Amino acid sequence: MIRPLVPRLAIIGAGLIGSSLARAAREKHLAGTIVVADRDAAVCARVRELGFADEVTQSAAEAARDADIVIACVPVGASGAVAAEVGPHLKPGAILSDVGSVKASVVEAMAPFVPAHAHLVPAHPVAGTEFSGPDAGFAALFENRWCIVTPPEGADPAAVDRIVALWRAAGANVETMSAQHHDLVLAITSHVPHLIAYNIVGTAAELEETLTSEVIKFSAGGFRDFTRIASSDPTMWRDVFLSNREAVLEMLGRFTEDLTALQRAIRYGDGDALFEHFTRTRAIRRSIIEQGQETAAPDFGRRAAEKPKHEQS
Ligand code: NAP
Repeated sequence: MIRPLVPRLAIIGAGLIGSSLARAAREKHLAGTIVVADRDAAVCARVRELGFADEVTQSAAEAARDADIVIACVPVGASGAVAAEVGPHLKPGAILSDVGSVKASVVEAMAPFVPAHAHLVPAHPVAGTEFSGPDAGFAALFENRWCIVTPPEGADPAAVDRIVALWRAAGANVETMSAQHHDLVLAITSHVPHLIAYNIVGTAAELEETLTSEVIKFSAGGFRDFTRIASSDPTMWRDVFLSNREAVLEMLGRFTEDLTALQRAIRYGDGDALFEHFTRTRAIRRSIIEQGQETAAPDFGRRAAEKPKHEQS
């Protein structure tokens, strides 16, 4: 029998990402034993029914005991509390990791609870959907998506290699960078776009009643895509904005300046400026498609029978 990559893998939080990772680990035989912990008894019962874990417990501490790799799959605001709970139970050589969409604040929150005999290697799989909970997960979620690993300074290279190997085996392409750089890049590629979606859907909802029903009726014109993004989990996104404050505010400042430039072009009838801008952005989408991060199908993500669309978060 082939030795699994991880003898005992503990996943804390059986939501979209945790349950997808457990499913991928099971399908690809990445772990000898998969332990899933969730604080909610009803979620634990559902995880047992879904059958993607070998052991299910409500206690993160119990899951972490004897685990080789422990991955916190909880909102970033809860990562410190999870580290505090599992830290004292990490065995020598164990690795504590996470999947949070923000990295610098997660390292800060988790690091104090990692004992000297264990390792902290945070990561962020840039893959997800607008759905939550154990039923929303699927094994192929990370297939050909990026996973960014952000080792703290002085991290043990062997521990980093193990986390990189785990995500590669789960189907992801892996890149390593500093937590600070990650947060800046993700602020513009994911966090600000989500804020824009939350804002535009909120603005539409606040319009008077007739217009609101027409917004819903004629939503095919771009608005529908915003509503999908703006239906993402409120806890997760509240935590993202609170935890990545500086980078989001920096990118939001640049975004506002560029929006003002477009506003001016419209006001003064500067068609050339608008055309040039839209031509540039069209080329960016083409390169995303060429890199396999999206498909060119015109109705991608809108067919009822299709799997949930991979959304970068
Ligand atoms: P989710 O489906 O809502 O699941 C969240 C999980 O965290 C649930 O198991 C929940 O437990 C648990 N949890 C929430 N608050 C907790 C607390 N205070 N203490 C302990 N457990 C707690 O969320 P998700 O989409 O999997 O997101 C999990 C992490 O992945 C987040 O850090 C997010 O930033 C990151 N991420 C998300 C995406 C995405 O697109 N969704 C993509 C990449 C990374 P209950 O069962 O009790 O609710």
